[in-house]
Amino acid sequence: MYDYHTHSDFSEDCSVPLETMIDQAVSLGLKGYAVTDHYDPDYCNPDYIFTLDFPAYHQALLETQHRYRSSINIAKGIELGVQLGGPMQKCREAVAGFPYDFVIGSIHCAEGYDIYLSDYYEGRAPEDVYRGFYAYMLECFKGFKDYDVVGHFNVIDRYAPAMPGSDAYMDIARQIMQVIVDDGKGIEINTSRDRQLLPRPTPTRELLQMYVDLGGETVTIGSDAHDTEIIGYGFREAKEMMLSAGLRYLAVFSERKVSYVKIS
Ligand SMILES: [Zn+2]
Ligand SMILES: [Zn+2]
Repeated sequence: MYDYHTHSDFSEDCSVPLETMIDQAVSLGLKGYAVTDHYDPDYCNPDYIFTLDFPAYHQALLETQHRYRSSINIAKGIELGVQLGGPMQKCREAVAGFPYDFVIGSIHCAEGYDIYLSDYYEGRAPEDVYRGFYAYMLECFKGFKDYDVVGHFNVIDRYAPAMPGSDAYMDIARQIMQVIVDDGKGIEINTSRDRQLLPRPTPTRELLQMYVDLGGETVTIGSDAHDTEIIGYGFREAKEMMLSAGLRYLAVFSERKVSYVKIS
């Protein structure tokens, strides 16, 4: 098993030390583990500052990768919060500034709003919010290429108080998937939704199938763990989802290069 989306106390919203997280991954017998702490420059909600102490983070990644090398394969990663404009350039600079193994590009802010907060949804029809969200995401990934997989593609499903039928936005979602496939990039199955009993998996089976049907073959599985008990959560279901979408291999990364591991 490879958990390719995890956080530690280098992230603004996580208080568990990196070593504690990795010790748990080792005790679960994981083969690989990507540390992907948050960097969301110019976060749209001033209550949070998702900056990252880069010198300390980079040192910890290097030391950890070395120290655990005989027990688990650590990928030095980062989860970028992608936004249009200035933040996008800061993300590019962050990626250029360190030899990461793996980079997740995620949307946490859209149209200037924190999608976790109700302000984004108030007074708008669900169709309008969803079309606005995916149109914003499309512009982001037309412009931003310095990532390996898109994080939690349909993250809006987690927070929207009401969801429209998928017909309302699937045309835009398909354009995003096409950009991802054309750029040779991947998506992830983010299993954290399971613990929150969310109404739709991330991605939905429909979205995963769309990616595969467009020719995509690079899919990672990540728990998005902010705590030890979430590491490796829901992976059996995620693998089943991949197999039923026609995927036989899981993507893993080293030095930003993908390789594929047969799904057992
Ligand atoms: Zn995220
Ligand atoms: Zn995350």
